[in-house]
Amino acid sequence: IAKTADIAKQIARGNYAIRFEGQTKTKELDDLVLAINHLAGALFEQEQLRKQLAIDVAHELRTPLATLGMHLEAMIEGVWQPTPERLTGCYEEIERLTGLIADLERLTAIESDTLKLRKAPVNLLDMAQTVASHFEMEIKKKGLAVSVAGDPVYVCADRDRISQVVTNLLSNAVKYTRENGNIRITVKDAGANGVMEVEDDGIGIPRQELALIFERFYRTDKSRNRETGGAGIGLAIVKSIVTAHGGTVEAESRLERGSRFTVRLPKR
Ligand code: ADP
Repeated sequence: IAKTADIAKQIARGNYAIRFEGQTKTKELDDLVLAINHLAGALFEQEQLRKQLAIDVAHELRTPLATLGMHLEAMIEGVWQPTPERLTGCYEEIERLTGLIADLERLTAIESDTLKLRKAPVNLLDMAQTVASHFEMEIKKKGLAVSVAGDPVYVCADRDRISQVVTNLLSNAVKYTRENGNIRITVKDAGANGVMEVEDDGIGIPRQELALIFERFYRTDKSRNRETGGAGIGLAIVKSIVTAHGGTVEAESRLERGSRFTVRLPKR
């Protein structure tokens, strides 16, 4: 018991690598030791995630801020004329950074808030139609053909959060599909689950990157080059929300052919 207490104190001081080795011959004490070891492991993982997030955020902010700083400096020193185009460029960069911070706040809120889902029956087909109507302007501008079809399935879910999932998936489909492309949303009844597929015939995702796109800040080279403006957080948000509902999300894709994202949500 004294040794366990000592280990607990060390964990409290931040030594998450420490473990109680060996057994005690008493089942209750072994359970306690196991729990303490698990606690150290869980704290270690949290610490790693926190550090990684700080590194990722610093990395994402550094480049745009450096560019912005250089451009403004050139204008202050008179090397550059502050033309409306240059000022607009700076303003757009600031808007992108503001968007990134809003995304980060959303992601942190979801990751720390998983237990506060306000669940109620949600009709996935209606939801898909509503979200699609919010994209009417972009869809028209790019000349896309968007269809929403399938079964009126009800799932037990947090309406606002699921709306965010559909919004992020559709926003990607719109972003990564060329002009006059096609997007199809299909809702299916699959026994215990409601299923929603968001399919496009856009630029696609290389096979070796498919597993990575749900990571925070991950963007494929193709989308980085296209300057589409995303920060690579949208799909991390999708995954957090769907997982918090006890559901799953998968991606299939063929480069230059298109992508299909499949979300499965339990009906109850
Ligand atoms: P972003 O804000 O960059 O769109 P996401 O997390 O939503 O971030 O997506 C991560 C990356 O996955 C994107 O940058 C893009 O490379 C790729 N991706 C996501 N959806 C699609 C899609 N429908 N078609 C092609 N690539 C996609």
